[in-house]
Amino acid sequence: MAKVIIDIEICKGCGLCVRACPKHLLGLAASKLNSRGYQPAEISDQAACIGCAACARTCPDLAIEIEK
Ligand code: SF4
Ligand code: SF4
Repeated sequence: MAKVIIDIEICKGCGLCVRACPKHLLGLAASKLNSRGYQPAEISDQAACIGCAACARTCPDLAIEIEK
């Protein structure tokens, strides 16, 4: 099973990964901010991730890593 690791301090909350996920597993944290004041991306259901890495490829800041 793939594991999505999001570095919330690098994330700027742009939402590109949210739109890229074919399984609609990513969203911006509703009640969390990183130290720069951005709502970071988070995964809702890690077990449902298919490890396609579309999110990681889309992130302009390389904030997402997929561990297989
Ligand atoms: S690896 Fe693919 S399925 Fe998993 S969160 Fe990223 S885009 Fe979604
Ligand atoms: S694409 Fe990258 S910077 Fe943008 S919300 Fe997703 S993880 Fe954060």
